Amino acid sequence: MGTAVNIADDKDRIGAFRMVGNLYFVGTYKASSHLIDTGDGLILLDTGYAETADVILESMDKLGFDIRDVKYIIHSHGHRDHTGGTAKLVALSGAKTFIHEADLRYLSNDPALSFVPDVFVRDGDIIRLGNTEILCLETPGHTAGTLSFFFDLEEKGRVYRAGTFGGAGTNQLKKPFLWDRGLSLLLRGQFLESIERLKKEHVDVFIGNHSWQNDTRGNYEKSLTCEENPFIDDTRWRAFLEKSEQKMLRIMREESRTQFINYAHRGASEYAPENTLLSFNLGVFMGANGIETDVHLTKDGVPVLFHDDTLKRVTGEEGSIEDYTYEELRKFRVVKGELADRIVKLEDFLEHMSFRDMLFAIELKAEGTAQPVADLVRAYHLEKKVVITSFKYEELCRMCEYAPELRKGYLAKTVTEELLADMRVRGIDEICPIAKSVTAEQVEQWHRQGFNVRAWGVKDEELMKQVYDAGADGMTVNFPDKLAAYICQCEASAE
Ligand SMILES: [Zn+2]
Repeated sequence: MGTAVNIADDKDRIGAFRMVGNLYFVGTYKASSHLIDTGDGLILLDTGYAETADVILESMDKLGFDIRDVKYIIHSHGHRDHTGGTAKLVALSGAKTFIHEADLRYLSNDPALSFVPDVFVRDGDIIRLGNTEILCLETPGHTAGTLSFFFDLEEKGRVYRAGTFGGAGTNQLKKPFLWDRGLSLLLRGQFLESIERLKKEHVDVFIGNHSWQNDTRGNYEKSLTCEENPFIDDTRWRAFLEKSEQKMLRIMREESRTQFINYAHRGASEYAPENTLLSFNLGVFMGANGIETDVHLTKDGVPVLFHDDTLKRVTGEEGSIEDYTYEELRKFRVVKGELADRIVKLEDFLEHMSFRDMLFAIELKAEGTAQPVADLVRAYHLEKKVVITSFKYEELCRMCEYAPELRKGYLAKTVTEELLADMRVRGIDEICPIAKSVTAEQVEQWHRQGFNVRAWGVKDEELMKQVYDAGADGMTVNFPDKLAAYICQCEASAE
């Protein structure tokens, strides 16, 4: 089929060739680029890495195209393996560039690689040139601004629908990758939603924006000897989407095991006075990899770690934290059996605990705590080790506004779809349900929406096992030793 030219036998080279109708492959193994000859100018889809520009130029030359005829350069998303060659190709062609506005953050600042996009593409836009109409759909997940494209191709008198999935990579959706970059876990939910949406499109010619997605090289080689065009196959699109979906779900299931957080709840509070350094340290020694604590403000505005609204239960004193200055509170003792320790400032907790390789869940117990807590977390550079939680949705929302960079979890007494929808809008990506409501089906459903699932209210070992077995990502327990032992036992029996 067509005039096929092998450029080089370099491993990253596939060749420059016509795929189907007026669609040509001009990219490399690592980063695909496609050219559409619309009869009234050329459209280029993605430009690969910076060095791919030369391969694209060479490929176009071999196929008899002139770079000056490229009118539009359209980007599936902003990562550098799809936009790297654009600046050079724009300089040579004067082409207009298209991208989703949400992906501007990824564009290079390097003067040699930077370009100013001409058009921000939105959902449902149709890009027209010559005989070609490209339907653009927003399919966020891989990035917030990932776009997928659909258009018709004609070959031997028949019309075929071509389609791309603009961002299928799941490595960028793994928890550590997202957390390191301050990105929301909710992108995973968007990724799965995008796949559901893409499944509704009929596609005869699946175009990969990386060559392994549609086996560009294998199909090209087949095309050299085969009568039928191997790129036309209407089963491939759906199979690829299903594979991508399963991969995402598998990653989330695996992460819930390998990165499970055993939060010592107010420290190891089954054994030591809650929310004291004694209790936190005991939690660490018992194998917790997270510590949960609560914040109230003293009369003089100092954030201290204390759970109840009144002092009575754990200190025997009258009144509440808010009635005393920090100096006055220092005289009191939190008691558990024979053990007693001081009420501790959040600052002292951060000072003592923050060097440890663990997560800290800080619960806002009172109004007005959001700002001072955020200020301390920032002062100690603990943005990546802290999750801010609360039962008080309004206080949590204040935190979203004041410190959008901090991760947040909502402690929900009941979980409704309305609540989850609002959390998604605000970027709260952890749902903390009451333990007894946690089942495997529920966890999978919340994972599918992109939420991290961390349970509270684990009263006994039976409930602890139920939550862990359901595949949750973490829980708070008063007895982290028992949870650590159970996790070891489960891991041993899984081997
Ligand atoms: Zn990418």
